[in-house]
Amino acid sequence: MKYISTRGQVAPIGFIDAILMGLADDGGLLVPTELPKLSAETLAAWQKLSYPELALELFTLFANDEIPRGELKQLVDASYATFRDAHVTPVRRIHDGLHVLELFHGPTFAFKDIALQFLGNLYGYIAKQRDATIHILGATSGDTGASAIEGVRGKEGIRICILHPHGKVSRVQELQMTTIADDNVLNLAVEGTFDDCQRIIKELFADVEFKHQYHLRAINSINIARILAQTVYYFYAYFRLADEGQAGAVNFSVPTGNFGDIFAGYLAKQMGLPVGKLILATNENNILERFVREGVYQPGEFRGTYSPSMDIQVASNFERYLYYLCGGDAAAVASYMNAFKQEGRIVIEGEKLAQVQADFAAYGVRNDECLDAIGGYYDQYGYLLDPHTACGVAATDAVAGEGEVTIALSTAHPAKFNEAIELRGITQSYPEQIQALFDKPQSQTVVDGTNDAVKSELLKFF
Ligand SMILES: *Cc1c(COP(=O)(O)O)cnc(C)c1O
Repeated sequence: MKYISTRGQVAPIGFIDAILMGLADDGGLLVPTELPKLSAETLAAWQKLSYPELALELFTLFANDEIPRGELKQLVDASYATFRDAHVTPVRRIHDGLHVLELFHGPTFAFKDIALQFLGNLYGYIAKQRDATIHILGATSGDTGASAIEGVRGKEGIRICILHPHGKVSRVQELQMTTIADDNVLNLAVEGTFDDCQRIIKELFADVEFKHQYHLRAINSINIARILAQTVYYFYAYFRLADEGQAGAVNFSVPTGNFGDIFAGYLAKQMGLPVGKLILATNENNILERFVREGVYQPGEFRGTYSPSMDIQVASNFERYLYYLCGGDAAAVASYMNAFKQEGRIVIEGEKLAQVQADFAAYGVRNDECLDAIGGYYDQYGYLLDPHTACGVAATDAVAGEGEVTIALSTAHPAKFNEAIELRGITQSYPEQIQALFDKPQSQTVVDGTNDAVKSELLKFF
């Protein structure tokens, strides 16, 4: 299997090269040339596998034998050995129609660890194999940064610089990133929003000369390895319900920001996993909800919400979906993206819009609905939702039909977002790893939101 760009101007490349390229050199995103179709027999066999075994099978399909199986197995095992739950991603029953897939048992208590523990180890492997220098540059709305730093801190041959919006991440997120003492880590706090951070790194990556000269590598979900790693838990969760006699399709509800996680679910469905509704949950930054309902993809005004990791207007992975929606027609994607650049919007109509609405059910959760879900589920079921998970659960309540079974993805531990939990008068106790952060010294550099300011800090660091 090879990887090509959604905009069609990159010659097919292998798995490792695709990971190293990150953003495609033509400004598009890399996608696999074909998707494996899994038979019922394969799915039945996979149902018996542990999480790391399942991850190994899925990565084997996408990695082209570029990494010998024994070594790939070591990378996978090391990546999931850091999780605190034996299932890695356990599924909890809330009631017959709703199960929560807990994705937050990794080192930084958010789902990003699932892909970034693996990607960190993969970069370590590539650095050794190819004797390559790896300089990671990433933007974060809070969780990716902590998770990426945790994935590579102290690793030889790797340096990492993370941009986050100054003062716009939760207290725990900020501490997780800025209390890491390893000297291969640089935190830049940018005066601006996450969209500013993301735009800056997208532009620096698009400067192919700069990118090559400084060996810049991506950890954002523009990196295809992230998406592939996130397909695993859709299968794993489906199998856990199947173990209990659930037959047929189940819905998945996904709190969405950059469209990465839900795109992984879309791929799992395309590969043959029996997925019913794929519920796209947004917060008040509901550009994606409007896209599914009306076919218009157009960033609006930034809204601060209780779920800051979803406070995103321009969803970087949206282009990958567009590619599949256009039946793999890269010229059509390039022309849509060009229109987006010129006019600030993309309009999808007719049969294509019908397809979008067949692929996703969307719901934008208002701030008060998010808090109500946190309070309501705590009172009724004794289960504490973090505000991102609460968006997915509230969206499920809004769009799942009678008798349907939904797995809602829980993307973070509530302790990461106590700001919202407190508002409902709920007192939680922090896990000890999070409690310990409050006593550690912080280090970060505040910069203004321009490419030049960031570039100059980068040059000093690399
Ligand atoms: C990143 C993140 C999301 C959004 O995931 P995307 O892949 O960007 O759609 C949702 N919840 C939490 C807690 C996150 O960290």
